[in-house]
Amino acid sequence: MDAEITIIGAGVIGLAIAEKASEQFSDVFVTEKYTTFGQETSSRNSEVIHAGIYYPKGSLKAKLCVEGKSLLYDYCREHEIPYKNCGKLIVATSKNEISVIDGIKKTAADNGVDLEVLDRDQIQKLEPEIFAIKALWSPTTGIIDSHSLMKRFEINTINNGGQIAYSTEVTAIKKTDTGYEVTVLDADKRTYSFTTRVVINAAGLFSDKVSEMAGMEDDRLKIHFCKGEYFSINPPKNRLLNRLVYPVPHTNLEGIGIHVTVDMGGGVRLGPDVTYLGSNVLDYRVDAGKQEAFWRSARKFLPFLEPGDISPEMAGIRPKTQKPGEPVRDFYIREESEKGNKGFINLIGMESPGLTSCIAIAKLVISLIRY
Ligand SMILES: Cc1cc2nc3c(=O)[nH]c(=O)nc-3n(C[C@H](O)[C@H](O)[C@H](O)COP(=O)(O)OP(=O)(O)OC[C@H]3O[C@@H](n4cnc5c(N)ncnc54)[C@H](O)[C@@H]3O)c2cc1C
Repeated sequence: MDAEITIIGAGVIGLAIAEKASEQFSDVFVTEKYTTFGQETSSRNSEVIHAGIYYPKGSLKAKLCVEGKSLLYDYCREHEIPYKNCGKLIVATSKNEISVIDGIKKTAADNGVDLEVLDRDQIQKLEPEIFAIKALWSPTTGIIDSHSLMKRFEINTINNGGQIAYSTEVTAIKKTDTGYEVTVLDADKRTYSFTTRVVINAAGLFSDKVSEMAGMEDDRLKIHFCKGEYFSINPPKNRLLNRLVYPVPHTNLEGIGIHVTVDMGGGVRLGPDVTYLGSNVLDYRVDAGKQEAFWRSARKFLPFLEPGDISPEMAGIRPKTQKPGEPVRDFYIREESEKGNKGFINLIGMESPGLTSCIAIAKLVISLIRY
């Protein structure tokens, strides 16, 4: 056996698993098709440490987010990863939104997340420039420098004796008597194969394709690319906000509405919106024509904002397993013995809160390893 454990994908989840696996197993091997880590979804997101507010009770998203947030804050402190426990406001701007706030408070409480109801004066003290008649305050929400987090996972994996092969794309997976034979294409377009006991599929937007390589066709696990675009608030108005500010969500949580996120560098952005792409192509363009629509959604709670105060910034793509209009699905994290693929662990549909949950996900995945 060339490797004991092979992890496909060096995004934040693949790397978190690699760090944990390399603490316990020898011959841990990560393959990543790009020249470095985190070139897809893990570097194109809001970098928010979510509290675990909106997810249905008992779902993996709820459990892993709540556990993951504590583990992530501890990890940041221990490893000096830049982060800020800045908190988040969920704001009601009209009377009919107040009942929505009550519902959110209850869902959060079911997940073990305490939120505080704030009146106008209390809101003004925290964020004097916003408009809200009532708000929920989430004290455990925060932001993180996700690049530093991934770098630390990478360094620790290598220090533990694990190997990370960049520019190495997995193109085929074959079951053997004792595990799997994995075929890869390297930077020089050479193909080679190696054997491994365990495969962990953390291939993000392409995790359905990797699962299919091992013979697991499943319509319910097909990924649908769902783009989220961001506009930044230009200086000097970016300095008018210090915390995360979200409107109350109106949809079935396909997205939670255009909101304000702040980052560790002092940047403030609006977004992401929710647009399913017609085909699974990595289209990261930001449509400047959406400027008016972004401004209109945000000005309800950011009265100081003029249309010209925002500029197109960046986009990320969510790996959703639900089609447009379908109810939100949970993370799919399974050891696939039942499908005849012992030792193959699939992670599919790892959208938000995947960054927040990454260490809790890694713990769960390690507990599923069997061969
Ligand atoms: C717009 C947006 C906002 C978000 N905001 C937040 C947030 O604020 N907080 C939060 O907790 N979560 C957030 N998320 C979710 C979070 O970003 C993801 O859950 C997380 O980054 C997923 O990490 P990953 O490692 O699974 O995937 P990825 O980062 O996509 O990594 C997968 C890796 O696999 C590699 N790969 C794919 N196929 C192959 C192959 N055949 N061979 C080799 N390598 C391969 C890819 O190159 C890639 O590097 C957001 C997501 C989006 C899109």
